[in-house]
Amino acid sequence: MSLDHPLNDLSHVVSADRAHVWHHLSQHKQYETTDPRVFVEGKGMRLWDATGREYLDGVSGGVWTVNVGYGRTSIADAIRDQLVKLNYYAGAAGTVPGALFAERLIQKMPGMARVYYSNSGSEANEKVYKMVRQIAARHHGGRKWKILYRDRDYHGTTLGTLATSGQDQRAMQYGPYPDGFVRVPHCLEYRAQWEVENYGERAADAIEEVILREGPDSVGAIVLEPVTAGGGVITPPEGYWPRVQEICRKYDILLHIDEVVCGLGRTGTWFGYQHYGIEPDFVTMAKGVASGYAAISCTVTTERVFEMFKDDAADPMGYFRDISTFGGCTAGPVAALENMRIIEDEGLLENTAAMGARVLANLRALQEKHSVIGNVRGKGLFCGAELVADRATKEPLDERKVQAVVADCLAQGVIIGATNRSLPGFNNTLCLSPALIATSDDIDRITDAIDGALSRVVG
Ligand code: PMP
Repeated sequence: MSLDHPLNDLSHVVSADRAHVWHHLSQHKQYETTDPRVFVEGKGMRLWDATGREYLDGVSGGVWTVNVGYGRTSIADAIRDQLVKLNYYAGAAGTVPGALFAERLIQKMPGMARVYYSNSGSEANEKVYKMVRQIAARHHGGRKWKILYRDRDYHGTTLGTLATSGQDQRAMQYGPYPDGFVRVPHCLEYRAQWEVENYGERAADAIEEVILREGPDSVGAIVLEPVTAGGGVITPPEGYWPRVQEICRKYDILLHIDEVVCGLGRTGTWFGYQHYGIEPDFVTMAKGVASGYAAISCTVTTERVFEMFKDDAADPMGYFRDISTFGGCTAGPVAALENMRIIEDEGLLENTAAMGARVLANLRALQEKHSVIGNVRGKGLFCGAELVADRATKEPLDERKVQAVVADCLAQGVIIGATNRSLPGFNNTLCLSPALIATSDDIDRITDAIDGALSRVVG
């Protein structure tokens, strides 16, 4: 595949980028001596940058987003057709793709009923926090206003969602934060915080302890990732989720599942929570909803939650007093409809389950060879390998070495990720989240790159 732009134009693009773009999550000092990487084209699992270099993308657009792969002309065509017909109307009214995608989505989510559109994962989560606060004000006489969140989980970049960041370094410099957000312990069994059998139940019981400490009457909701993403690809231990559900029911606490990463197939089912028999009150999703072809996020609720916002029509405070301007853009839901069709027609859930098993098998084989791999975990095409300096003590591998492994893979033309420098002392997990279209060859090439990188960097 060749780039159809002349390279001298692209070198201008690189200097324009260097001069004017402020990159996300980046220390720009590095660009005084190196060029920023500018991507130009993508097809399937492959990307090309402005120098013409080809990469195999093992992380679906860097942050587990492009689930159906690059270069999907059918999504682009669907967006174009919709935009020339009607590009936008504010969300106080409906649009054709908005209505049809909500209907299709709810068919995949038994027990859920209503879809509220916005643009990003942060925004979708923030909507839930506002809903919980309004429910507290109107239905609990101002009680039940606190929201629990978990150590190591992440829910977004706004001040409200950062108040629920279980990743300290993301939140550290941006306070003070609003009150009423309370942390519960993480459930990573490899780093078990209690020496007990039935670790999953014990980790859930730790949530109950926080509820009892805070006062059950003050706690309205808990937000949890079904499988924690940037916090280290943390798959829940056996017995964890049934107990969490039980605790929520016992204390009338609304369960908010953040599917911003897991949603739309990443773990091999439509949603991560569907592996664990969870019955949530809120589900939020963003990245994979339209695979990055358009900006869209959804806050999905049960009818029971929705009914709490229906009231005397004359009461100006009864309804959800919120808007997201671009939640009315039709590009999002029309792209999401086509994205969902592709996942279904191409059997991508099945492929994800099969290829995910291959990633885990390959990583476990590497674990036999490289003692630096302390723990391998994952669900579907969402896998992690935690690197340690010493298997016995589980001392995390130095973050600079972890980054050197990522850089070595990049030099081999394979993009992988690592926990995002937000967990003091624990930025030591390699993350793999290839597109759901990945083939066995793609998977083997990614894990072969890791094999070579580990030999070179760690020995
Ligand atoms: N929730 C989770 C689990 C995430 O991983 C992210 C983004 N990395 C968000 C929420 C925030 O999404 P966004 O960046 O679209 O606001």
